[in-house]
Amino acid sequence: MKRPAPFEKPILITKPLLPELEELMPLMEKIWSSSQLTNNGAMARQLEKELGLYLKADNLSLFSNGTIALQIACKLLRLSGEVITTPFTFAATTNSLAWCNLNPVFCDVEDDTLNLDVNHIEELITEKTTAILPVHVFGNPCKVDRIQQIAEKYNLKVIYDAAHAFGVEIDGRAIGSFGDVSMFSLHATKIYHTIEGGALTFGNRYLKQRADWIRNFGLIGEACIMEPGTNGKLNEVQAAVGLQVLKLVDKEIEGRKLVVNRYKEKLKNIPGIRFFNEIDGVKYNYPYCVIRISSGSFGMTRDEVHEELKKYNVFTRRYFYPLCSNFQCYRNIPSADVHRLPVAAAAAQEVLALPLHGRLEMDDVDRICELLIYLFK
Ligand SMILES: *Cc1c(COP(=O)(O)O)cnc(C)c1O
Repeated sequence: MKRPAPFEKPILITKPLLPELEELMPLMEKIWSSSQLTNNGAMARQLEKELGLYLKADNLSLFSNGTIALQIACKLLRLSGEVITTPFTFAATTNSLAWCNLNPVFCDVEDDTLNLDVNHIEELITEKTTAILPVHVFGNPCKVDRIQQIAEKYNLKVIYDAAHAFGVEIDGRAIGSFGDVSMFSLHATKIYHTIEGGALTFGNRYLKQRADWIRNFGLIGEACIMEPGTNGKLNEVQAAVGLQVLKLVDKEIEGRKLVVNRYKEKLKNIPGIRFFNEIDGVKYNYPYCVIRISSGSFGMTRDEVHEELKKYNVFTRRYFYPLCSNFQCYRNIPSADVHRLPVAAAAAQEVLALPLHGRLEMDDVDRICELLIYLFK
């Protein structure tokens, strides 16, 4: 096979959704004439309403980013001691626990979804455990019913890191409706974004009320602080961007679905390349196109593929690698021992996220697939 030509322009891992500037300007003019730039202004309130409808959440609050939202969720539920979580996630998940003086306890993941393995949670529960923090990795839903059962049996709280799961539904039920609190990241690299931003959805309105106080220093009214809060507010300019981006998100998800299906179609017969299976009844959102590369059958390691593609101007991402349990600051935790996390450890060596957004040209997808086929030996 002839060596394929490199792309002239770099193909990046993703490209943020951007509203037309002309459509943004009227909202900016409104903000300017109101002179209210932040502190739960009209744009933020409107976006909370619209996102609540989109995510089918009666109780939703916006924050300046997903990480602060996750930290606020931990404070809100008054967690202490140990929290069982996954090592196969972005650093923000584990870091948020550490920032709240909580001890992360790493639990291995299941091979088919790379989400927290529900069969290993119970053996990690001690008298210090107060919560479970699973992640809907790559938008694949966790085994929410089983997690709920375990939480009820041991009286634990459940916070879902739903950073990847914007708009996902299980049998028509919104992903944010499971557990006590769910966190959505609205960062520019996510499907739906407010440049930087985060949202929490809550099981009840009292949690939302307290979260709204905590994100504003803990202020209730003008002069009362009931509990120490922080500054986690989303400003008006970003909320306005969010209102416009929300109009584009359905089309973006449709476009991504077509791209992912094209990748699957073109690569389905390549030994050593594996995709995730879709489960019936789940509405997916296609946040990443992740393949798993087994070097034995593919003939090249994931790292080699990642490096080799760069030579063709194609930029992929080893997502998630390394595991959170491998970071310097966490690797001495007993549960971080790699022998206790064999499935996560294998996945971290195999996963590769391919370039994906809803506006990616099919010709480019085809060329990326041809490159992978060319590399396959
Ligand atoms: C992006 C992400 C976060 C952090 O969200 P920010 O809005 O960037 O703070 C947390 N968890 C996961 C799994 C993420 O991918």
